[in-house]
Amino acid sequence: MNQLEIKNISKTYSNGVKAMQGISLNIQNGMFGLLGANGAGKSTLMRTIAGLQTPDTGEIIFNGVNIIENPLYIKQQLGYLPQDFGVYPNISAFHLLEHLAILKGIASTSERKQQILALLEKTNLYEHRNKAVNTFSGGMRQRFGIAQALLGNPQIIIVDEPTAGLDPEERNRFNNLLSEIGEQVIVILSTHIVEDVKNLCSQMAIIHKGVVQACGKPQDFIKELENCIWEKEIDKKERPFYEKQYQLISSQLHAGRLKIHIYSKSNPNNEFTPKHPDLEDVYFSQLLNTKQYA
Ligand code: ADP
Repeated sequence: MNQLEIKNISKTYSNGVKAMQGISLNIQNGMFGLLGANGAGKSTLMRTIAGLQTPDTGEIIFNGVNIIENPLYIKQQLGYLPQDFGVYPNISAFHLLEHLAILKGIASTSERKQQILALLEKTNLYEHRNKAVNTFSGGMRQRFGIAQALLGNPQIIIVDEPTAGLDPEERNRFNNLLSEIGEQVIVILSTHIVEDVKNLCSQMAIIHKGVVQACGKPQDFIKELENCIWEKEIDKKERPFYEKQYQLISSQLHAGRLKIHIYSKSNPNNEFTPKHPDLEDVYFSQLLNTKQYA
């Protein structure tokens, strides 16, 4: 069982932005969802775990080894799928994987070939192995991204916003692949898509302005909110009134009307109906907490 311990890490960029403020997390095998809005500090945390940048203070221990002191250790154990690969070259999937495998230090030609073919099979790209990656669709590129991240049998895989830009079928296929991988290693999924975390992750953290707001099992968070979420359809113009009067956690436009969710431990009356909470309610009620204490 792999074990990643993040202990009280902080980072202030030279422009004064406090991107991480005392983040602590314990992560084991399985899929871990890191949920937060743009700018919350997710990529900073991912890059720090990947050994690509160092925190100002704090420690990260992977399987007993301090990886801030030994960044090479985590680099050897890690697969990283960044948000954007940038330019895709005009060479075949097979040859690009071979090139990346050499960079990862897989020296034996036969081992390289065996691993690459197995990964192309796993990511459903085997029949496209001789096609240039710059002709791949968005979904194929993401699956190629996973194939390259899996080179060298990493024990920890980091994927940053992987399903952005994928159509529903591609997203589904990609998510299935991730959850299959997550059975044997640590997979950290950084995203702002609540639904992906709900469908895939056994553990999650909500991060806001460089601080972990909450950490635990999605199901436990949902249970905690049972009997506390109420919904109502209102006119758009009425929103300021409800915002003032209640703990409004979200509002969604619905055929020209607003469907609002509020947090209340007791029945708010006023034609609100009780609603079973979902992970979106968890996320938005956590953000509400940050506003109240801001
Ligand atoms: P997320 O991945 O959740 O969108 P980031 O980690 O990219 O968040 O960014 C967190 C905060 O740090 C943001 O305010 C962002 O503008 C800032 N930031 C990120 N990278 C840098 C950098 N290299 N220099 C200065 N500020 C940065």
